[in-house]
Amino acid sequence: MANMYEQIAKKMGTPWSNEMEKILTTLYTPEEAEILLVFNGPYLDRFTAQKIAKKVKQPNDKIEPILKEMSRTQRLFSAKKDGETFYSMFPLIPGLFELYFSNYKRASEEEEDVLKLFTEEYEKYYNKGYVVNSLSSSYPFMRVFVEQELIDETISGRESKILEINEEVEVIKNRILPFEEVRNLVEKSRRISVMDCACRTHMKIYNKGIPVNDYPINVCMNFNTFADYCIEQGFGRELTKEGALKTLAAAAKAGLVHTTQNVTEKISFICNCDRDCCIMLRGIRQFNNPNMVANSNFQPEYEKENCIFCLKCTEICPMQVIKLIDEDSEDQRISINIDRCIGCGVCAFNCPEGALSMIKKFDKIPVENMIDALTKTINGRIK
Ligand code: SF4
Ligand code: SF4
Ligand code: SF4
Repeated sequence: MANMYEQIAKKMGTPWSNEMEKILTTLYTPEEAEILLVFNGPYLDRFTAQKIAKKVKQPNDKIEPILKEMSRTQRLFSAKKDGETFYSMFPLIPGLFELYFSNYKRASEEEEDVLKLFTEEYEKYYNKGYVVNSLSSSYPFMRVFVEQELIDETISGRESKILEINEEVEVIKNRILPFEEVRNLVEKSRRISVMDCACRTHMKIYNKGIPVNDYPINVCMNFNTFADYCIEQGFGRELTKEGALKTLAAAAKAGLVHTTQNVTEKISFICNCDRDCCIMLRGIRQFNNPNMVANSNFQPEYEKENCIFCLKCTEICPMQVIKLIDEDSEDQRISINIDRCIGCGVCAFNCPEGALSMIKKFDKIPVENMIDALTKTINGRIK
């Protein structure tokens, strides 16, 4: 029978390896590992301390403090409902890795050796392709979405187009669905928090405290029970709805890609991802694997007449798929390798002359909730 830690890795949905053995045995004592094994899988169950105590056949007053400590140190998720605390298991990603590294200040003060081991073993694990393998799916768990301002421009452009040409095909092509407007997702949220990006924090620690790029770091957002958790544990800062939309616009201006769960309703987090450190974007580039994140339904379109050849788009594109061709000739223009474009809109958002615009090209509609998305991601895994 597989040892306890191998079973935990399996439940977390992450491949077993020497590195994962070191990470899990360092993060969880055998007693904590036994507790984790009562869960069926990440976020699938929400158990009270009493229920967990019963399942591990231990007294409640012994188990409850262990659970509280696991939650305080980002080893276990907890949420409150009607005054009662419920515990859930984290997957490695998104969960344990993100929250542990986002609250790296706690870890560096309390357990520097554990933080160092997790940082180094995770990087080895990543470079061997294990993370990319576990996230690569025909239904990626995360999806890219376009900055709200660009959507607003598309909507107003659509209206004038419809009035002008009134062709049904144009209406369908440009129809913006509610999940594509982040304003709708933000509006429906009860609570929002922002924390440090785990991927950039992890790489900074790995790089001996030197950031690997200049992108903003305090831009990783959590919603509802996840926001409650991060605020309560002291590493999440509460944001108003307006503050959340402003933070998103600033992130897109800086060249970061908005991603969220591949669902239409009740998102738990929004990431603002960079090309060097992000588990997904780095995965696409380092492992040439396009199945890490679902593209948006949009693609950029270029109008040469408006272009001043400032090359901002070639620099800022996170996938580095834009280049200048036929330079210094009459045919000089911008060329986009659309096969590798993720539809993030960062190029259009940062083009000073409006020579790039995001056009709705597809009508892919995600599933409604996180559990369905997780199931589809696992079933669609590409080995
Ligand atoms: S890079 Fe993206 S996926 Fe990674 S923690 Fe930061 S914001 Fe989230
Ligand atoms: S950012 Fe806009 S204006 Fe500048 S080169 Fe790109 S398309 Fe042209
Ligand atoms: S060309 Fe680059 S910046 Fe523009 S949408 Fe595609 S991936 Fe994003």
